Amino acid sequence: MRAALLVGPKELKLVEDWPEPELSPESVIVEMTGLGICGSDLAVWSGQRPPDSFPWIIGHEATGRIVAVGDAVQGRAVGERVVIEPNYPCGVCSSCRRGRTSTCVNRLAVGINTPGLLRERAAVPAGFAWPAPAAISDEDLVCVEPVAVAHSAVQTSGLAAGGDCLVVGAGAQGLFVCQLALGMGADVSVIEPQPARLALAQELGARTALPDAEFPLVFETSGSSGGVLSALRLVEPGGTVILIGIPHTEIPVPIASLVRRQVHVIGSIIYDHPSGFERTLDLLSARETRPGTILGEPFGLGSAQEAMSSAGSFAGKSWISFG
Ligand SMILES: [Zn+2]
Ligand SMILES: [Zn+2]
Repeated sequence: MRAALLVGPKELKLVEDWPEPELSPESVIVEMTGLGICGSDLAVWSGQRPPDSFPWIIGHEATGRIVAVGDAVQGRAVGERVVIEPNYPCGVCSSCRRGRTSTCVNRLAVGINTPGLLRERAAVPAGFAWPAPAAISDEDLVCVEPVAVAHSAVQTSGLAAGGDCLVVGAGAQGLFVCQLALGMGADVSVIEPQPARLALAQELGARTALPDAEFPLVFETSGSSGGVLSALRLVEPGGTVILIGIPHTEIPVPIASLVRRQVHVIGSIIYDHPSGFERTLDLLSARETRPGTILGEPFGLGSAQEAMSSAGSFAGKSWISFG
């Protein structure tokens, strides 16, 4: 089958003869239809977060159809349309036992520490290949995983209708936070250095933050040191900063200022299994939030290299259609 292999930093190579996945009793084989590209894929592709070895397969935000079902899997069928939850918790560590699978110490993160999905077919544990509700369009389905990340952060924040928040960064993750916060009736301001991304956030209904305005709640989605420091500076005394973006360098944080202003800083990583995907699929089935509207024109698998090299500056979300 065809697969896009990462053979070195920033170097994807399409091969035609990658081995087919092996079907285990508890798995299904998924034939990919779409795959979203996100910041963590870019971090692996660019060498900021290098894989253990080359060649490596990146990609984790995938949709597809089941083409084979393992012997021990019940109630699933060939042809079923699915979206993949690409984080497999161990189920036995203390985090998992408390239901906090997002902080599982043994978590397999697809495309990061277990091979990814930028290939025609892959084996997926059946419970992580979610049946796609018919009400969710193919484009919205491609966005389920990053929307689950945003949804979990918004829920952690306690934001409610009429609330006021700032979103730092209008990459895809920032835009999804904007969509969810606006969808629940909150007032959303945004800061973003890149004009095209800022314009897209404004199209969704967010406003440009006034210089030096302060907010009771700030979502940091950029993972850049400038973004993190802005988030910590623009939060009101007693307010909360939710950190979603993952920096790849150490950032010197003004602790004394945070102490004096009694700022709450909360990290938010992915979502818990199975509640994260469950809630997100319910939310998108209602069709009030349409994350697929920020997708760009799709790239083919053969143009994956081009998709990756342009994604870092693209306004909206880049994705691959396996067509
Ligand atoms: Zn992602
Ligand atoms: Zn665990």
